[in-house]
Amino acid sequence: MTAPDAELIIARWIAPVEPDNVVLENHGIVLAGDRILAIGPAEGLIQDWPHARRTVLPNHLLTPGFVNLHTHAAMALLRGTGDDLALERWLRERIWPLEARLLSEQFVFDGSVLACAEMLRSGITCFNDMYFFPESTVQAAQLFGMRVAVAMVVLNFPTPWASGPDEYLRKGLDVRDRLRDTARVHFTLGPHAPYTVSDPTLREIAKLSAELSLPIHIHVQETATEVAESLARHGRRPLVRLAELGILGPETIAVHAVHLDAADIALLKQYGVHVAHCPHSNLKLASGIAPVAALNAAGVPVGIGTDGSASNNRLDLLAEARTAALLVKGTSGDATLWPAHQTLRAMTLTGAKALGLEAEIGSLTVGKCADIVAFDLDDPALLPVTDPVAHLIYAAGREHVSDVWLAGRPVVQKRQLLDPTTNRVLHEVAGRAGLWQTPK
Ligand SMILES: [Zn+2]
Repeated sequence: MTAPDAELIIARWIAPVEPDNVVLENHGIVLAGDRILAIGPAEGLIQDWPHARRTVLPNHLLTPGFVNLHTHAAMALLRGTGDDLALERWLRERIWPLEARLLSEQFVFDGSVLACAEMLRSGITCFNDMYFFPESTVQAAQLFGMRVAVAMVVLNFPTPWASGPDEYLRKGLDVRDRLRDTARVHFTLGPHAPYTVSDPTLREIAKLSAELSLPIHIHVQETATEVAESLARHGRRPLVRLAELGILGPETIAVHAVHLDAADIALLKQYGVHVAHCPHSNLKLASGIAPVAALNAAGVPVGIGTDGSASNNRLDLLAEARTAALLVKGTSGDATLWPAHQTLRAMTLTGAKALGLEAEIGSLTVGKCADIVAFDLDDPALLPVTDPVAHLIYAAGREHVSDVWLAGRPVVQKRQLLDPTTNRVLHEVAGRAGLWQTPK
């Protein structure tokens, strides 16, 4: 068979995620254009595709690109500016005042470029972002060729991006109108959190979500204080209020969901809500630990996010996934929960489904977009390779990412970004980032 631009990647192991719990050994993947054209035993593919450009990865595991289900990419520039504080003080005393002073198109572009470089070299090929000046985040993602879902963020107070809820929505929708047909760019409605958005605005967002078929990306029940304040102010828990306002549904991505009671979990299940679990941010801000075992038992889908660099402080989904797996075992007393394949699924296909993108990404399947990561397992820390997926989750790190393909295009090889333009812009941004050191 021939396809003019076909590339055949042969790897020692492939974890396709679909079908579940499978590791293919000495197999290959044929890419043509931005798609996966074939997957099969290496020998057969070499015979069938003799003219395809060939990449041989003899010690490597291929997985689908990771989906970072919650981040604020541009906050890379605020990394290290508010450490060792609980969420309320972190937001009110550090982050919001800094953002009020610093936010601009340039700030968001520069922060997003740094974040994209970090994420891509960590195996993340798609990220679900919530921040201001979203067009600048899209520009950064496009520089690398990454897939992004940007939120039309809404808050009830002004920032340099917008003056209030109406302007946030209008500007967000304007950006969507301009960019909606752009490849690999997606949009969500982004009411920041139940405590920063009013009832009428949440109702309006629910209406827009239904009219425009847009996912809703919202922080929910991150801290005990948030739940207590909601009970005091609204007489109900945040999720109950969101359900009444029409915000909950299968298109909703509830970020954090740390402080849940049994009724909350039942609500999430009833409405088909997806959860974005961000364990490092929750631990670092001392918010708590999300009840993932109970969510699992109820059948609520849980994907994984890094949150922003100011509260994590790494955009490292593999590390996040390892912590998620260890926490669910440790807190439940059941070591069989979240086995390695399920953890890999949470950081790929579950994230893709939460964004409504499972037809495009999330598994290495014929017809899907070729977003692929290769991990080089030839490292004393990983030998012998008894179970490559278990090694990936429990022993490997992002330093083992060797190659990345975005939409069939090699963008990272031997840990280096290939594109000279991307490298030039990254270098310029890194130079400018010196200006942001120790913002007061
Ligand atoms: Zn967040």
